[in-house]
Amino acid sequence: MSDYMIRATAAGEFVRAFAITSGELVETARQKHDCSPVVTAALGRTLSAGLMMGSMMKDEDDLLTLQLLGDGPCGGITVTADCMGHAKGFAANPQVDISPRADGKLDVGGAVGSGFLRVMKDIGLKEPYVGTVALRSGEVAEDLTYYFAVSEQTPSSVALGVLVDRDCSVKCAGGFIIQLMPGASDEVIDALEANLSSLPPVTAMLSDGHSPEEMLERVLAGMDLHITDRMEVSFRCDCSRERIEKTLSSLPDADLDEMINDGEVVEVKCHFCNGAYVFTPQEIAQIREARKGV
Ligand SMILES: [Zn+2]
Repeated sequence: MSDYMIRATAAGEFVRAFAITSGELVETARQKHDCSPVVTAALGRTLSAGLMMGSMMKDEDDLLTLQLLGDGPCGGITVTADCMGHAKGFAANPQVDISPRADGKLDVGGAVGSGFLRVMKDIGLKEPYVGTVALRSGEVAEDLTYYFAVSEQTPSSVALGVLVDRDCSVKCAGGFIIQLMPGASDEVIDALEANLSSLPPVTAMLSDGHSPEEMLERVLAGMDLHITDRMEVSFRCDCSRERIEKTLSSLPDADLDEMINDGEVVEVKCHFCNGAYVFTPQEIAQIREARKGV
């Protein structure tokens, strides 16, 4: 089953919901960055959330950036997503290996550490929207629930999961976001809470083969669920040789001279996808020469 996400409403539009299955794209991210299991889980949860949050924006050019800026061993995690189901992301230290938690689960909170969650939305305004909250646990879903409550004043339930297999590959990944719109009645809130309290963990539902539709049917059981949209999702980086050239072109003369004088090929890697771009000293010299004319 390939990755996709759905959007839905329930309880006469007083509830909006998002759900995603993202195992393939999280596996792609793991392979690109050679992530350890705990980082695969942390990055995978963040990618899944980023895609759902990206779909809340409206324009093709809108860009959502989600950052976990923790002091844990995996360093910062950065994910960007658009509203069309494309996301990319990386962790500063992808190979972190720490002991599992007492319950045997991957210690994502321990790998992320304490610090901040930052959400940036570039929706074509002069200044991007930026919301920052303290990390609650570093487990991602709980941090986002807190972010939505504090920064966006939207009561939300966020659940995210990544199941990593024995061979370190991704078995399944996904999650959901349920949001209460203003004016939701106590009855709606009670019904939602009752459904959530009896819900199995996301990873259990996904590994049982539950689709995003089936997850929402359980979370929003008896609440008049309407699925409004379905979208394929994938890991996609928009880096290119031209972009890397631009970055090189913005370096100080001294740095470029050093590369040229070293006489060796320079490999520049894209943070987001780990894609490598190789430049010869002659090419670096051309980049240095070209900008003189500007
Ligand atoms: Zn890239």
